[in-house]
Amino acid sequence: MPAESGTTLLPPAPAGDPMVPRPVRVESVRRETRDTVTMDLRALDGEGLVFAPGQFTMLQAFGVGEVPISISGDPARPDLLTHTVRDVGGVTGSLCRVEPGDLLGVRGAFGRGWGVEDGRGGDVVVVAGGIGLAPLRPVVLAVLAERAAYGRVSVLYGARSPAEMLFTDELDTWTAAGLDVHVIVDVADRSWTGRVGVVTELLPDAAFDPDRTLGLVCGPELMMRYAAAALTDRGVEPGRVRVSVERNMRCGIGLCGHCQLRGHLVCVDGPVFELDRIGPLLTVREL
Ligand SMILES: Cc1cc2nc3c(=O)[nH]c(=O)nc-3n(C[C@H](O)[C@H](O)[C@H](O)COP(=O)(O)OP(=O)(O)OC[C@H]3O[C@@H](n4cnc5c(N)ncnc54)[C@H](O)[C@@H]3O)c2cc1C
Repeated sequence: MPAESGTTLLPPAPAGDPMVPRPVRVESVRRETRDTVTMDLRALDGEGLVFAPGQFTMLQAFGVGEVPISISGDPARPDLLTHTVRDVGGVTGSLCRVEPGDLLGVRGAFGRGWGVEDGRGGDVVVVAGGIGLAPLRPVVLAVLAERAAYGRVSVLYGARSPAEMLFTDELDTWTAAGLDVHVIVDVADRSWTGRVGVVTELLPDAAFDPDRTLGLVCGPELMMRYAAAALTDRGVEPGRVRVSVERNMRCGIGLCGHCQLRGHLVCVDGPVFELDRIGPLLTVREL
């Protein structure tokens, strides 16, 4: 099922054959946590990779495999492709061991993004759990680039522990730039003086007008269900609450059907869906 034309979530079409990976060179690697790294990649052909916040690429470790990874970089910097990868298995493990100078393959950008521009003129609430902050970082950067176009913008971020928080060096910068950033951890350590609990507990701290709010949620599915419900309980319309769904994927372009979720193909109809389109399916693992 192709993405509907005319919707603001429709991404720019990738150039060239979408099944042929473009070679990219690893420019830099930053360790975020024990099992997660952020890498900046530059295409060997010198062409940038234009993307919308929320889109993903199929990232290939040559000779190992290819996996979908969200773009976590700045949409205003198409010259630099940034990915944040958590080591959970064969391909992501290999990707997390790359070093500057290594070559990887990239297909994309693919999928429907967050459509953050739909939040212009109103408030935006970003709710992220764990590595879910990675696909939302481009939203934050897009909002900061046009701060005056948005009303109150809250970033609510929950991590398992202080050691597992991503982008820690940026959170204060986002606050200084006029975002309302709240952080919570499931389990504190001795250094932690902040909130302890689950991310939905931060929602009462967020000031927003539900009639003109866009809610963007990414994290484990259970967390997304509760966070999305908390937003609609506060009066945000389900059509203005969006979640990013992960399913096993192969082609990334709607050909193979691997990521089918009832009537949707997550790779082309998502990964970002409005709650009123996907809500009941959030409990369905694979079909
Ligand atoms: C649209 C989309 C965007 C994504 N963005 C990111 C991202 O920005 N950063 C990132 O690190 N990962 C992201 N993922 C998840 C990533 O694609 C998987 O972790 C990866 O495919 C696992 O492959 P593997 O070969 O490393 O592990 P495998 O050997 O295939 O699996 C190892 C273990 O991980 C589990 N696993 C497999 N897929 C997933 C998954 N999707 N989520 C959680 N556990 C899984 C398996 O059940 C198994 O237990 C995204 C997935 C999708 C669909």
